[in-house]
Amino acid sequence: MAYHIVVLPGDGIGPDVTRAAVQVLEHALKGQSVEIVMSEHLIGGKALDTYGVPLPDVTLEALHKADAVLLGAVGGPKWDVGPGHLRPEAGLLALRKTLGVYANMRPVKAFSELLDASPLRREIAQRVDLLIVRELTGGAYFGKRERGSDAHGMQFAYDTMFYSENEIRRVLITAFDAARLRRKKLTSVDKANVLDSSRLWREIVQDVSSHYPDVEVEHQLVDSCAMNLVTHPQSFDVLVTENLFGDILSDEAAVLTGSIGMLPSASLGQGIGLYEPIHGSAPDIAGKGIANPLGAILSVALLLRYSLHVDDAATRVEQAVAKAIAHGARTKDLARGQDDVVTTDQMTERVLAHY
Ligand code: ATP
Ligand code: MG
Repeated sequence: MAYHIVVLPGDGIGPDVTRAAVQVLEHALKGQSVEIVMSEHLIGGKALDTYGVPLPDVTLEALHKADAVLLGAVGGPKWDVGPGHLRPEAGLLALRKTLGVYANMRPVKAFSELLDASPLRREIAQRVDLLIVRELTGGAYFGKRERGSDAHGMQFAYDTMFYSENEIRRVLITAFDAARLRRKKLTSVDKANVLDSSRLWREIVQDVSSHYPDVEVEHQLVDSCAMNLVTHPQSFDVLVTENLFGDILSDEAAVLTGSIGMLPSASLGQGIGLYEPIHGSAPDIAGKGIANPLGAILSVALLLRYSLHVDDAATRVEQAVAKAIAHGARTKDLARGQDDVVTTDQMTERVLAHY
């Protein structure tokens, strides 16, 4: 049976980098026993222009049959038309909701040739190789909330960090499974010295870990974890945490290597995956053929690993990207001084040549 892959190029540089990603995906599947069916649809600003909504019915219909979604980026100044209008980004939120994804995965790995922009000392930065797994559907962003005023006119507000056992368990299983494909170490991050939701989280980690005796587990409090990410980033393999903590820690981790333009992401749910580079639509360079496609190409590696379960092909894509970089290929955003500057398409060819 073939896997259905829905390709959503989106806006700005989205189509440029997605084209590169699709080429690499097709190349990587040659000689594999995995069969795929791809279909391309509109989302974001382009969908607004054509259908008046950022996630049209035709796209939704395709999504209901999808096993994986490859997304470029959405949005741009053309659609920044002020309050009261539908925005392209609304399509993204609706997309995540439709797919029911609950685990956001962000691998952060150093390329030793690209560490100039890292805030860390080179010898530490080059050892960064971790995966952040962030819970996406619960916690303070989705719990009961209220703003009001008391009898004296004093304003108050609260947001509730609510988690059900099932929400915690399913993201932990995703994280433990991911740890098994890596160095088999899992760091669970919480604030169990203060929060009940964290104490429940910790108990469920203990419970789930009994099914993964091969994975080493440690617990860190989020405040000390924030320090450890900067001081000892090489000590992390898989880091799993709830939504709000994960939002903060994943941005912190993203800057460690200095090459944020190259980071991929996967958002996983039951049997479905959404894959996208972490960068935005970069309207300033759209259509110029100079966008860096590596974030999108590395997202294909994640798609191969987590949705198509061909880990060898995934690793080969990652190694091909590393080799292209090591051999000096640089898109404009990565180039320094006398570097060999290549276009989006040339970078893609370099990656394919090293696959
Ligand atoms: P968003 O709100 O969608 O996240 P943003 O403006 O915050 O958008 P990006 O769209 O990611 O952030 O871009 C910020 C800048 O980084 C862009 O103007 C662009 O110059 C650069 N940039 C981002 N992604 C890439 C890429 N893949 N290749 C080259 N340059 C990029
Ligand atoms: Mg942004």
